[in-house]
Amino acid sequence: MRKDQFESPDYYMVEKLFSEEQIIVRDATRQWVKEYVSPVIEDCNLKGVFPKELIKGIAEIGGFGAILPAKYGGSELDLISYGLMMQELERGDSSIRVMCSIQTSLVMNNIYEHGNEFHKDEFLVKLSKGELIGSFGLSEPGHGSDPASMQTRHKIDGDHYIINGSKMWIGNAPFCDIALVWSKSNDNNNYACFIVHRDDPGFSTAKIDKKWSFRASETGELIFNNCKVHKKYLLFESDSINSALSSLNIARYAVACGSIGIAMECYDVALKYSNERIQFGKKISSNQLIQKKLVDMITEITKAQLLNWKLGLMMDDGDATFEQISMAKRNNVSVAYNVARNARQILGGMGITAEYPVMRHLINLETLITYQGTDEIHTLITGRNITGVSAF
Ligand SMILES: Cc1cc2nc3c(=O)[nH]c(=O)nc-3n(C[C@H](O)[C@H](O)[C@H](O)COP(=O)(O)OP(=O)(O)OC[C@H]3O[C@@H](n4cnc5c(N)ncnc54)[C@H](O)[C@@H]3O)c2cc1C
Repeated sequence: MRKDQFESPDYYMVEKLFSEEQIIVRDATRQWVKEYVSPVIEDCNLKGVFPKELIKGIAEIGGFGAILPAKYGGSELDLISYGLMMQELERGDSSIRVMCSIQTSLVMNNIYEHGNEFHKDEFLVKLSKGELIGSFGLSEPGHGSDPASMQTRHKIDGDHYIINGSKMWIGNAPFCDIALVWSKSNDNNNYACFIVHRDDPGFSTAKIDKKWSFRASETGELIFNNCKVHKKYLLFESDSINSALSSLNIARYAVACGSIGIAMECYDVALKYSNERIQFGKKISSNQLIQKKLVDMITEITKAQLLNWKLGLMMDDGDATFEQISMAKRNNVSVAYNVARNARQILGGMGITAEYPVMRHLINLETLITYQGTDEIHTLITGRNITGVSAF
């Protein structure tokens, strides 16, 4: 792979909207990505393995639990800083951003918001240091967009719960130390979230090896065969699936921010390439058809940067609705997809090689379209919100 020469496009000087602290977080993350992620990521992607040697470094830059109080190992970042961190990490690769996202927003934040002091003391600091790696199991083989119909079940047995079922497509599953797992009660159909340990009896994991997207993120299955979990590891119970869905808010915001990191990089690479590549005796950037692509790319990136900034402000104020988060997730992934497609085309044959990051990002975007709620489901969430009528 060529040396990482990323320069961030900022056509509307959005940076002026950020505080000094937010810029420090962004720049420190960008520097770390250039130094540690870019040199190894193409290889990890081709091999289909996560660069586990980076886990310690991610913890050191505050990537695990960044938004949590210092007492629990967090860095007390505001949501705009967190979004900028996710933007920069996903610019490096989706696998790095999703590792932080799962650990921070799906595992640590859930334990912080719903756990008792015992849960917080046992897990949060270790998770922040990367001494424990978590996963979050909601989706199942038969139920992805419709998690309310989940079939994983639990019942009480003395001091323990017995869980049966399985969770599919779970990030970090192959090597997680703990898993936050959603299940339904045999007694009253209530939903419950458990903290399952890797060595709990009846718990096992499997890796999904043959996948073309998110290759450097290890994805797998969580399997519960009369799995025995001590009662003290029940995180919380609810009669509504909305508790599970609301725990996805920060993770979806992270996708909205991360996908723009991808778009910024693909644009930067394509712009530079178009000014270097000579065909018909002149730079390809001098062609109107190439300029049109680049103009469309930077216009959409600029709009999405502003959307992220405004959403970050609303999230910091506690004002953002999950429907507003849906809109940003859907829009920004779609923007990044179109930008990456155009960049791939501007690079011609070179666009499909691992010399450039574009094709890797493009195939990662295939996952971003689907996970954390598919493009279609986010369309329906916004549709329901503006019309008052649910189409799903
Ligand atoms: C790499 C990867 C990592 C993932 N990581 C995790 C994780 O860590 N934890 C976790 O819990 N899950 C994870 N997921 C699962 C992800 O959230 C689901 O894949 C997603 O919710 C879609 O579910 P599904 O794949 O079962 O597709 P389905 O729900 O079967 O959908 C198939 C298609 O039908 C469409 N569709 C479904 N219902 C409707 C409707 N009512 N109207 C219109 N269209 C509809 C969908 O939009 C989609 O296009 C991950 C997925 C991937 C690919």
